[in-house]
Amino acid sequence: MSFHDDLKQQQPILYQILIKSFTSSKISHAFLLVGKNSGLAAHYIAKSLICSQEILACNQCNDCRRIDEHNYGDLIYFNGKDESIKKGSVEYIQEQFAKSSMEGKAKIYLLENIENSTPEAMNSLLKILEEPIAGVYAIFTCQNLSRVLPTIQSRCQVIQLLPSSKKLLKSQLINDDIPEDDINVLSELFDTYDECQPYIESELLEALKLEVFHFIEDLYCHRDNLVINVQTHLMKNHKDKEKVQLFLNMLVLGLRDLFHVKHSMSLTYPSFRSLYERVDDTDDEIVRKIDLVLNTEYLLNTNANVMLLIDSMMCKI
Ligand SMILES: [Zn+2]
Repeated sequence: MSFHDDLKQQQPILYQILIKSFTSSKISHAFLLVGKNSGLAAHYIAKSLICSQEILACNQCNDCRRIDEHNYGDLIYFNGKDESIKKGSVEYIQEQFAKSSMEGKAKIYLLENIENSTPEAMNSLLKILEEPIAGVYAIFTCQNLSRVLPTIQSRCQVIQLLPSSKKLLKSQLINDDIPEDDINVLSELFDTYDECQPYIESELLEALKLEVFHFIEDLYCHRDNLVINVQTHLMKNHKDKEKVQLFLNMLVLGLRDLFHVKHSMSLTYPSFRSLYERVDDTDDEIVRKIDLVLNTEYLLNTNANVMLLIDSMMCKI
């Protein structure tokens, strides 16, 4: 399978956003990708900005290859993974981009794991973003959105990546003879069979699956009941942080299904199909709701108050 098809299948939302903005030439000057393995997607955007072969990246031409090798004249690359990004690195970016282009195409700075930047570096980055220069693009990745300054987030197109599919894990789970929905959910949320094991045929998983179903049903069909049902049911029975996090992650998969059902793609919860078919929502709205839920989940990792966060999510959803 080509990388293109892979991206289309594994990151359909990212793919839709990119194809839409690149065909209409309304390309954001700053992207912030959120999620594990967002580096691959970040490089893909960088390649798409300079590749002359296709609308997005061809992944084969010399320019695409040089981006992957960090060997492209107008690409500056830093990664905060092992050592935090310092103010000096951001100043270097500013100096380089004040000079004229070396390759005659887009100039790109790609910073991975920007949450691991010093406060001074974050502030300098913000200054660059506040005065965008034509032809200069920022591509950032992070795993923890709550650690990125909201003022930086607001100047970027924030794209939440979805967990990648895991064929091997799926085949192991199929051997357990559990419902298809459960196989899908577990393989989406966990990386290894050992991590899944406590949840196989567990009451918690079944209960939370039902909560996801009711949440989506209330959200679209009985909106007035939503807040009260969340308070009296979900938050009463599953109020500790780990369970709420698991619920939010499972809810994201349900909301993503709404997107998938419209585009005839495979579902995480095939048993919810008749519910999904009753829902009428736009792609943009679904994406906004997914963002909101993912954001709430990220914020839960900090020491925030669970009830307050859920209340705030309920007001905005
Ligand atoms: Zn190319």
